[in-house]
Amino acid sequence: SLSGKTAIVTGSNSGIGLGVARALAGAGADVVLNSFTDDEKDHKLAADMAAEFGVTVRYIQADMSKGDQCRALIEKAGACDILVNNAGIQHVAPIDEFPVEKWDAIIAINLCSAFHTTAAALPKMRAAGWGRIINIASAHGLRASPFKSAYISAKHGIVGMTKTVGLETAKEPITANAICPGYVLTPLVEAQIPDTAKEYNMSEDEVVEQVILAKQPSKDFVTVEQLGGIAVFLCSDAAAQVTGTTISADGGWTAQ
Ligand code: NAD
Repeated sequence: SLSGKTAIVTGSNSGIGLGVARALAGAGADVVLNSFTDDEKDHKLAADMAAEFGVTVRYIQADMSKGDQCRALIEKAGACDILVNNAGIQHVAPIDEFPVEKWDAIIAINLCSAFHTTAAALPKMRAAGWGRIINIASAHGLRASPFKSAYISAKHGIVGMTKTVGLETAKEPITANAICPGYVLTPLVEAQIPDTAKEYNMSEDEVVEQVILAKQPSKDFVTVEQLGGIAVFLCSDAAAQVTGTTISADGGWTAQ
């Protein structure tokens, strides 16, 4: 059981982050939810999760595109035994038309945020004598596709950072790993279907069948519950020597 541990999950009011946060709460961890918004529904999400799982759940607003806010999130949370770097955005465009502000935002949110949160969290993990860092990378941390230059650069970067942090903490009871999901049907994926349809001159249904699931031999989406289960495994004693590596959940994508 993760009872007594505090898990901070960045970008967790939706999608994979929410699924992972729910799985960690289900395993007994106290949870800190996060996003850049500070709406009533964000705080209600935390209250509902606390009631459902009988753990403490707090919502802490912080914009993961800003280094100081990333570090402030970890400080405000107090304890940080489990850090899940999940916040991420996507933009689909050819590199010569890629908007500079989108490139900067993707690199900041999908890559730099994990540098700042990890730097702030490690001293807390060392003081507690235990820690788990789980970076939500992607199959796109291991393979490329056209029109996603910023995302693929950030995801390859976070896989590299994961290896480095695994080495820097290798002698300590702390692990750092990346989960590399294939396609999960979250708002992030739903939002890129229209743009991808435009790039490929296809209908949205054709994009799902011929572009998205074409990459994934299982022809099925990964679920947030499956990813939550992998995160809970990485927090278990069985995974104590699993560090500096990636776990793919991609329906066979990277076997190709
Ligand atoms: P999502 O859009 O449902 O969730 C993204 C989360 O990040 C949301 O909670 C959002 O509020 C938060 N977020 C965005 N910008 C933020 C900011 N500036 N500060 C704080 N929070 C911010 O998307 P998702 O599919 O659940 O994506 C979560 C992670 O999983 C991302 O890192 C994504 O790259 C990765 N991923 C997704 C898939 C997929 O197929 N959906 C596959 C592989 C990896």
